[in-house]
Amino acid sequence: MPGDTLHVNNKAAGQNTYDAIVIGSGISGGWAAKELTEKGLKVLMLERGPNFEHIKDYKTANKDPWDFPHRGSATLQQKTDNPVISKDWAMYGTAAQEAVMDYWVKEKDCPYVQVKPFAWWRSYQMGGRSILWGRQSYRWSDIDFEANSKEGIGIDWPIRYREMASWYDHVERFAGISGSKEGLEHLPDGQFLPPMELNCVEKDVAARIKQSYKGQRHMFIGRVANLTAAIPGRTKCQFRNRCWEGCPFGGYFSTQSSTLPAALATGNLTVRPWSIVTKILYDKDTKKAKGVEVLDGETNKTYEFYSRIVFLNASTLNSAWVLMNSATDVWPDGLGSSSDQLGHNVMDHHYMLGAQGIVEGYEDKYYYGRRANGFYIPRFANLYGDKRDFLRGYGFQGSASREGWKRDVAELSIGADYKEALTEPGAWHIGATGFGEILPYHENKITLDKNKKDKWGLPVLAMDAELKENELKMRKDIVKELVAMFEAAGVKNITTWDSKEYAIGQGIHEMGTARMGKDPRSSVLNPNNQVWDATNVYVTDGACMVSSACQNPSLTYMALTARAADHAVNELRKGSL
Ligand SMILES: Cc1cc2nc3c(=O)[nH]c(=O)nc-3n(C[C@H](O)[C@H](O)[C@H](O)COP(=O)(O)OP(=O)(O)OC[C@H]3O[C@@H](n4cnc5c(N)ncnc54)[C@H](O)[C@@H]3O)c2cc1C
Ligand code: SF4
Repeated sequence: MPGDTLHVNNKAAGQNTYDAIVIGSGISGGWAAKELTEKGLKVLMLERGPNFEHIKDYKTANKDPWDFPHRGSATLQQKTDNPVISKDWAMYGTAAQEAVMDYWVKEKDCPYVQVKPFAWWRSYQMGGRSILWGRQSYRWSDIDFEANSKEGIGIDWPIRYREMASWYDHVERFAGISGSKEGLEHLPDGQFLPPMELNCVEKDVAARIKQSYKGQRHMFIGRVANLTAAIPGRTKCQFRNRCWEGCPFGGYFSTQSSTLPAALATGNLTVRPWSIVTKILYDKDTKKAKGVEVLDGETNKTYEFYSRIVFLNASTLNSAWVLMNSATDVWPDGLGSSSDQLGHNVMDHHYMLGAQGIVEGYEDKYYYGRRANGFYIPRFANLYGDKRDFLRGYGFQGSASREGWKRDVAELSIGADYKEALTEPGAWHIGATGFGEILPYHENKITLDKNKKDKWGLPVLAMDAELKENELKMRKDIVKELVAMFEAAGVKNITTWDSKEYAIGQGIHEMGTARMGKDPRSSVLNPNNQVWDATNVYVTDGACMVSSACQNPSLTYMALTARAADHAVNELRKGSL
């Protein structure tokens, strides 16, 4: 079986030794590499997928629609081979687009078991999902960090906003987040570049919502990791809205445009693509990790690399996979399993539900460019005296725009009049989708299925997670409240959707599986993201999350990663690791 032979070149142990190993090169791994190298550590970044170079590999970014052999659609074969990303999905119609088909994981090679339906959106290449992400970036507040403790759900977060604020500042300044300051306690303001603008219809709807709800509900431009002003090495966003093909201008935050060049510039970073980390090597005597085992994805050869610390940033579910697959006789259920929490408490956000309608009265108005952003309506449920029959809350993301030439003109279907009619833009539409908090449940879990193997003969994950009563009640409320707000704003012909196909994972905000905590008996990681059972291993991606809030989570992973890197370097300097 591929990968069974261990090719250990003992003489090479010296060459294969670094101060730190970072597993994964996505949003969180990129940050770990940048922070650790800038603090002087020699770092090896291991990425399971192929290399993917900034600018050079954005092969479609400057193509026109007619340059694509299949006019933008994936082929039937590609869709059959990749059923998860080929499912109906709301972002740009469908994710199975010709331009980005190669950016997604090859699902056939990397299967997983769905004990219960689970959508797993993966990108196994340099940069991970930092190329494909939607870039919406929001801080959490103490309302989020304190909710578990106040409501007796799961366990308490071991940190509070005051410990995160300066790290949010730090990552926002470097990543470049544009947004407006709103002064909301539950959605703290940050270090923003100038905000993008709401268009005329969105401004009107925002004003009407504000008035109808007496200033208690807010709608403003999204906070997004697209540059509205140039920063060193990166040009400002050109409003092309083709971000997920990769941006040759570096107009949005990705590993390639931002953290990787910074880490490489230190001269301290070695990057190794095609490196599937299969195990963290645990040393029983020191009770620490001594390095990692890697299966080369191209040659199927196995290697070992050694380091003083390991940052595990393979993404929420893959980081749990690495820990589980690192089982030894000391930890038979995996490294970090002593609390029986490893793989448990899987969370995500509600998605695939919302409403849309038509706004009249702006037929003589248009807007500039293709803004790579929309509006945001932050949480209001269960806040400041509002009380619902479920816990926590939700926010909305959406936009208003005019129909283009693809719309149907009911009375016409052919001829000069038809062409003529389509040179004019159509009606103004507004639509939004909800993102809601999902609670952590111990029984929502992932496990290793040793009977099913991937292309490399490695065991795969089995997903066993579902929505419960709190979530089902919230979904109803999300749609109801959006309709009420649209009606209050004068939106006409409102239609709603709540896809029965929604399964956990589809929000692409997987969290949990190795939560932080104050007590090693109930958490996998300590308050500094160190694995209690091997303190030189830090897990700083979504696996560490203790609850899910309703804000898009990646900014919080960035801040936690920078904070943990600082901790690790200080501990190394003190000789405590
Ligand atoms: C279409 C889309 C839209 C999104 N929109 C938003 C948004 O607007 N806002 C937001 O906050 N989030 C958004 N997200 C989610 C966001 O992309 C993720 O939260 C974020 O990328 C997670 O960062 P990460 O470092 O944990 O994982 P990733 O970015 O997924 O990177 C993980 C990396 O680890 C590698 N890896 C995995 N296993 C191994 C292994 N065993 N050995 C070595 N390497 C390994 C992978 O190949 C990958 O490169 C979106 C995601 C998608 C796909
Ligand atoms: S919208 Fe901006 S960030 Fe996105 S691809 Fe275009 S220029 Fe780049």
